[in-house]
Amino acid sequence: MSDVVVVGAGVAGCVMAERFASRGCSVLMLERRRHVAGNCYDRVDDSGILVGMYGPHIFHTDDARLWEYLSRFTSWRPYHHEVRAFVDGRLVQLPFSLESLYQLFPASLAKNFEAILLDSYGYGAKVPILELRHSALKELRALADIIYDKIFLHYTIKQWGLPPDKLDDEVTARLPILIGHDSRYFQDRFQAVPKRGYSELFTNMLNHKNIKIMLNTDFHDVMKLNDGEIFLFGQRFCGQLIYTGQLDELFGKKFGELPYRSMKMKFETVDAEFFQDVPVVNYPNDYDFLRITEFKRINPGSFRSPRTTLLYEYPQDYTAGKNEPCYPLFTDEARTLYEKYCGELSRFDNIALVGRLAEYRYYDIDDAVMSALKTFERLTS
Ligand code: UDP
Repeated sequence: MSDVVVVGAGVAGCVMAERFASRGCSVLMLERRRHVAGNCYDRVDDSGILVGMYGPHIFHTDDARLWEYLSRFTSWRPYHHEVRAFVDGRLVQLPFSLESLYQLFPASLAKNFEAILLDSYGYGAKVPILELRHSALKELRALADIIYDKIFLHYTIKQWGLPPDKLDDEVTARLPILIGHDSRYFQDRFQAVPKRGYSELFTNMLNHKNIKIMLNTDFHDVMKLNDGEIFLFGQRFCGQLIYTGQLDELFGKKFGELPYRSMKMKFETVDAEFFQDVPVVNYPNDYDFLRITEFKRINPGSFRSPRTTLLYEYPQDYTAGKNEPCYPLFTDEARTLYEKYCGELSRFDNIALVGRLAEYRYYDIDDAVMSALKTFERLTS
């Protein structure tokens, strides 16, 4: 019997498995899919281009300790992500910045808005769109309404099936208005992609004699929870369970389904060297797809291909067994249901929840790694 069982081989699960294994614990990892690395899973396609099978993932963090930890498992290629929004037939820089003003408005109007923004917030400030909409200045409220309508409202409805006011404010706050000229999507100190991809990074992480991985294994098939006790292969399990999946599934959905949002991925090969000028173009107002990613512009070693691979992402509701859960749905109702499920955990003293799905948080890769590192410290101190 293993000391630790980790359900889910995504970012958080891999870090937990590696940490416990390095401490001398035997770890059993259960993964429903045929691969590790969760939604960061990538592979080289027929055109020789490294593609993210569940969309683009760009690593970025301000935390040197976290950067050093992941650097044990991969070498990196420095990379600054760039995103544009297709608005009124033009490409506008995201995050929406002083530069974007000039891409969207006639120069004289842009200059006017720029002066008011600089005067109100100062150079380098980051202002959430919902905050800008409540500015005391009517010119800024008018500007915010235009940005909200052209960049945020319809994109958010497309991505989540809900407008921003039905979601936590933190969702749109992830993409603040930037009172500056930085053209990068993220401003963190460390920004990179793994030189040979995320699959290799997480495979290296799990390459430890104390870790046994069972792929194609639904935890329900080998594990049962009953009255505060966990049973593994029919025997009582008294070790530590690390759960990174959907919390409602752990408890047989007894209070109903926790909502998650999914994404349908449509890959397309184009017989041209490049398709677009930047790695990602968002389509807030046009088409059914959310964005187009051109992987050649993100990943190393792909430039030699004479073709280019595109990914069109179509947001959709998550349905168990039909598609993959990508994002928790951040509404008040969903949070209340999540808390109800959390109450069930008090019957157990050996279950820890980690990661985007299990913690029901809008985690980036660095957040998921940090949460895992902190949970490991808490459980072992
Ligand atoms: N967002 C938007 N328009 C855009 C990009 C983002 O309205 O062109 C909003 C949307 O609500 C989204 C949120 O900002 O969910 C966060 O965007 P981010 O790029 O962080 O989403 P990710 O793709 O990383 O999940």
